[in-house]
Amino acid sequence: MDLKNLTIAAARADVQERKTSATALAESFYAKIASDDPQIGAYLTLSKDRALEQAARMDVLAAKGEALPPLGGVPVGIKDVLVTRGLRTTAGSKILENYIPPNDCTAVARLEAAGAVILGKLNCDEFAMGSSNENSAYKPVRNPRDLERVPGGSSGGSAAAVAAGMAVATLGSDTGGSIRQPASFCGVVGLKPTYGRVSRYGLIAFASSLDHIGPFANTVTDSALVLRTMAGRDPMDSTSADVPVPDYVAELQKGVRGLRIGVAKEYFAEGLDAEVRASLEAAIQKLASLGCEVVPVSLPHTEYAIPAYYIVATAEASANLARFDGVRYGLRSKEARTLSDMYRKTRDEGFGPEVKRRIMLGTYALSTGYYDAYYLKAQRVRTLLTRDFESAFQKVDVIVTPTSPTAAFKLGEKSDDPLAMYLADIYTVTANLAGIPGISVPCGDTRSGLPIGLQILGRHFDEATILRLAHAYEQARG
Ligand code: GLN
Repeated sequence: MDLKNLTIAAARADVQERKTSATALAESFYAKIASDDPQIGAYLTLSKDRALEQAARMDVLAAKGEALPPLGGVPVGIKDVLVTRGLRTTAGSKILENYIPPNDCTAVARLEAAGAVILGKLNCDEFAMGSSNENSAYKPVRNPRDLERVPGGSSGGSAAAVAAGMAVATLGSDTGGSIRQPASFCGVVGLKPTYGRVSRYGLIAFASSLDHIGPFANTVTDSALVLRTMAGRDPMDSTSADVPVPDYVAELQKGVRGLRIGVAKEYFAEGLDAEVRASLEAAIQKLASLGCEVVPVSLPHTEYAIPAYYIVATAEASANLARFDGVRYGLRSKEARTLSDMYRKTRDEGFGPEVKRRIMLGTYALSTGYYDAYYLKAQRVRTLLTRDFESAFQKVDVIVTPTSPTAAFKLGEKSDDPLAMYLADIYTVTANLAGIPGISVPCGDTRSGLPIGLQILGRHFDEATILRLAHAYEQARG
């Protein structure tokens, strides 16, 4: 079986029609992980018992001739920032090396209730802070297309697992691009929904006002299916929105003729790689040939997005990470003699350098005397960026941009230069600051065979339109 190109519908149908069993399917994925993951490093923990129990339940349904639920028997992987009951959840950090959560994240629970088989937990940058997966406390992830290169981050394991055929679909989190950018680097589809569309209950918080959960998959249809399964109000997350969830899969069939597509010059500026630019221009041509109307738009505050993001995100992170102090969760330093010593040593031993850098930046930005100059100003910039999108969306239905200014870079290439790493997030952080949905779909390869991603941004709660355009593009590209 071609595990690499297996879709959700095909996997489910095979189990339903008993061409294979969910158990055999899970076993084939574990065999693939055993043979290929030592080179890639996508998985941190496997959950074989849990997977095989769920697979057996699906096999019983299929044997009785009962209809499987929408993800019945489909093997999936989960980024290790989403808590899983009884299953180690590390957030890619040493501080949570032995943490066994008492509950399931809502998104995970919803996938499992829809029949998905959870293969294991996926590697990521520590507390989702990073763009290359090199900040994982455990091991880097390598890009399945080129093992010398990064898979992107922070959901590097989630992207690489789908790209390498080690899961049919996976979940990731996106605070400033961590779903879309690794999807782009690995040549798969990655979707960040609207803020509030998917419950964050059970997502280990990085920056609560920017964090989102979303899917990685081989196809847009699969992404739509996973989103439909997870989306909707959850009483456990007061920021999850009570907005009707459309049937995203059915919506894909509506045409795209007449759709107005915005192209913003600010996203095609200095620093954009020539091959990425050429690939994007070809994609825009293709969309025009499908009957879409291409309209220039302006998003004038884009240049302030990176500084605003790295203030807001680090400020929230410094508060969210205060809970890791040796008292309740995870590691407790054995060296300490007093309480404050215990806090200090636990955090010193448990957090890696990037996490410490962010806590310091965030604490500084929130401190008395600097709050107005940094945090408050960043929040004002956030409002301006949101208004940029609001006015653009009066003229157009979606906005298309590159997902990342370059294709995947080499391991080690940027790890000594945090600023260079931060600056490369320019095309993705804006959607988190504004809370709008965005998807990255593959739109070609560089001459050296590295994937390039097309990003489509939409109005709040209008995932249906970006999915529909992404699907039409994917079909037209073949
Ligand atoms: N690369 C960005 C950062 O390092 C985004 C990370 C994310 O989306 N979790 O903060």
